[in-house]
Amino acid sequence: MRLIFVGPPGAGKGTQAKVICDKYGIPQVSTGDMLRAAKKEGRLPAELIQKMDAGGLVPDEVVIDLIRRRIEEPDAVSGFLLDGFPRTVPQAEALGELLASKGQRLNGVIALTVDKNLLMERAVLRRTDKRTGQIYHLKYKPPPPDADLEHRADDHEDKVRNRIDVYERMTADLLPFYEKAGMLERVDGVGEVAEVTQRVLAAIEKRK
Ligand code: ADP
Ligand code: AMP
Repeated sequence: MRLIFVGPPGAGKGTQAKVICDKYGIPQVSTGDMLRAAKKEGRLPAELIQKMDAGGLVPDEVVIDLIRRRIEEPDAVSGFLLDGFPRTVPQAEALGELLASKGQRLNGVIALTVDKNLLMERAVLRRTDKRTGQIYHLKYKPPPPDADLEHRADDHEDKVRNRIDVYERMTADLLPFYEKAGMLERVDGVGEVAEVTQRVLAAIEKRK
């Protein structure tokens, strides 16, 4: 199973990806998580840190290279779920070429849709446990008292607004690209987490 999750910041990609990856036994490959790990370990150049913290995109070559190396690791050979990649048409084209060169095919692209006002609330009140990577929400999924919480630098209101704008500009090209290829499944991301999971699973079953 080779899947892509597309959606604005706060749409629930990370939350849903964890459930789907457990069910299908595939790794979740998040370019955002990989970049944040590189930043934490001091491996990310200052100009990329600045771009990320401001809510902008990092250059295509950087993420394409991360993905090229990641999908060659043994756990990703028979499948993966890409969360947050591709974000641009050149990234999508590079991924297509990469998979074709390995004789692999994509099952489908799941686009999670959520209203803008709700996105803002979801992202601004998101907190992640530094030790476990578990995603919490101060209103919808309160963390336990002993959680070691992190508030992402780009999850502050002005940055989130910028990220939503960047996403809207990006999807203007990316979604039609996958729609034309007959790969796109739109899924309503509003509702209880379990309810959204059922919709995502139904969309994936169509692509098997
Ligand atoms: P993304 O990876 O798309 O940016 P996340 O999965 O991190 O989004 O979710 C953003 C925030 O919204 C998190 O705090 C998460 O706990 C919360 N969240 C995710 N799905 C739902 C949902 N269906 N209902 C309410 N809150 C949700
Ligand atoms: P995310 O965790 O997916 O919200 O990503 C956090 C940030 O990492 C984004 O705002 C970008 O700065 C950067 N990033 C992650 N994935 C990509 C990508 N595919 N292309 C460009 N930048 C990315």
